[in-house]
Amino acid sequence: MSDRVQKLAQLQDLELMIREVQDPASKEQEEALGFSVGGLEQLEKAREKLIKQIPGQDLRVYWRIRRRYERAVVPILNRICLGCFQELPTSRTRAFTDSDPLPTCESCGRVLYWL
Ligand SMILES: [Zn+2]
Repeated sequence: MSDRVQKLAQLQDLELMIREVQDPASKEQEEALGFSVGGLEQLEKAREKLIKQIPGQDLRVYWRIRRRYERAVVPILNRICLGCFQELPTSRTRAFTDSDPLPTCESCGRVLYWL
């Protein structure tokens, strides 16, 4: 996975975790397990730190997708986007350099990585 896509995937993970911790139902559970408010602070700090390492253009793509979908970064398996289950054109390959735009799915627009 390219470093840029990996950072977005990490950001997505952190955001899903932060949401879970903030969810009242799971919060009770977490607190019962000893996961306190301090855990949320740590997650948010890690998120801020990560955001600073992501290029602005990548973040903009990410936020735009996140407004529509819970998961903005999804894997490709056998040329199928696992976000929308459409097959990608054969011309798409895993070759991707850091100067290229992020690889995104042509039908759903999510950022892609190859499994
Ligand atoms: Zn897709």
